[in-house]
Amino acid sequence: MFSRKSKIHSMITGTCPKCHEENMYVNKNPYNILETMKMHEHCENCGFQYKIEPNFFFGAMYVSYALSVAVGVGTFVVSHFGFGLDLLKSFAAIFVVLIGLMPVISRLSRNIYINMFVSYDESLAKKKPIKNHEINPLQANS
Ligand SMILES: [Zn+2]
Repeated sequence: MFSRKSKIHSMITGTCPKCHEENMYVNKNPYNILETMKMHEHCENCGFQYKIEPNFFFGAMYVSYALSVAVGVGTFVVSHFGFGLDLLKSFAAIFVVLIGLMPVISRLSRNIYINMFVSYDESLAKKKPIKNHEINPLQANS
């Protein structure tokens, strides 16, 4: 959907913000609660260190707050105006949705936060393996 080179790609997939090749997280599934926030120290492909400075990801709390408010407002609009639930039930819906999406929101906020500081560097992306038919037959024989 999004170009591999765009920041959106790295934000959504949680790949290294520098090369967009390796996943930053030890476990790809955010719902494995014990490993939701477990990250690799650095990128296997380009060596980029994710924790730019000590406590770097504390700043992601602000992004997480913004995302949670957006999700809360969205849930309210859908439950109250879409499904016609009363206020109390709408707030219960917001609570349930926010708890349910917590692993996704906290990862997404880290991905967005790190992508605010780090830009994609195409030269670090993995080179595609050369296909056999692209090898010059003269070179292959020598
Ligand atoms: Zn990388």
